[in-house]
Amino acid sequence: MTILNNLEKIRSEIETAALHCGRQKDDVTLVAVSKMHDKEEILPLLSAGHRVFGENRVQEALQKYPDLKQSYPDLKLHLIGSLQTNKVKEAVSLFDVIETVDRIELAKKLADEMKKQNKNIPCFVQVNTGEEPQKGGIVPRETISLVNQCRDLGLNIIGLMCIPPVDDEPSPHFALLKKLARQANVPELSMGMSDDFLVAIQQGATFVRVGTALFGPRNQQK
Ligand SMILES: *Cc1c(COP(=O)(O)O)cnc(C)c1O
Repeated sequence: MTILNNLEKIRSEIETAALHCGRQKDDVTLVAVSKMHDKEEILPLLSAGHRVFGENRVQEALQKYPDLKQSYPDLKLHLIGSLQTNKVKEAVSLFDVIETVDRIELAKKLADEMKKQNKNIPCFVQVNTGEEPQKGGIVPRETISLVNQCRDLGLNIIGLMCIPPVDDEPSPHFALLKKLARQANVPELSMGMSDDFLVAIQQGATFVRVGTALFGPRNQQK
C-alpha cells in the first residue's frame, strides 16, 4: 500500500514541478531505484503500470529482473551503478539503458558486446561533476571528448548523468550537467534523487532516479 501511495505522490509532484517550469509531465521519466528491495516490493509498482526501474549492481539485478521482464516485456531497466568491464556481457544482455559510461575502455567493451548481441542500447555518459576521487564518472572537462569518442565507436549516447556530492548544494551540479549536455549535443539529463528530484526537474532533468522516497529505507545488504 505505502509504495503505491508514494508512487502517486511522486508522480503528482513530478507533474506539478514540470508544469511549473513550462514542461509536460511526460518530459520527465521516473526511474524507480529498486536496489536492495525484493521482487515482492517491485511487483506492486508493475501492477500499477510503472515500467521504468534502476539497479546499481549487475549481480543483484540478475537475481530479480529476468523473471520480472518475462512477466512484463515492456519493463525498462536502467543500470545506474558503475560497470566493471568483466560484467559488460551480462549488463548488455539484461539492461535496456546504461547510465554509467565513464571511460573509453568501458565504451569499447560495450560497443563490441552490443555488436555481438546485435543490440544498440541507449547510454548516458556519467559525469563526476564534483570531481570526487572515490566516485565514478568522467571529469567535466573531458566529457565532450568522451561523448564524441563513444559516438565514433557507434554507441547511442542519449544524455548525461550525475550524482552530486552528498554534502553539496545540488543545483550548481545540475546546471553544469545541463551546460555540458548542450555542448555535447545530447538531449537527456539523468539527475535528481529522492532529496532533490524536484530541483533537478526545475533545472531540466528528463530522468529522475528515486529510491528511498518510493520504497522507503533500503533493506540491509543481502
Ligand atoms: C541509490 C541511487 C539512487 C536513489 O537514491 P535515493 O536517495 O534512495 O532516491 C539514485 N541514483 C543512483 C546512482 C543510486 O545509486
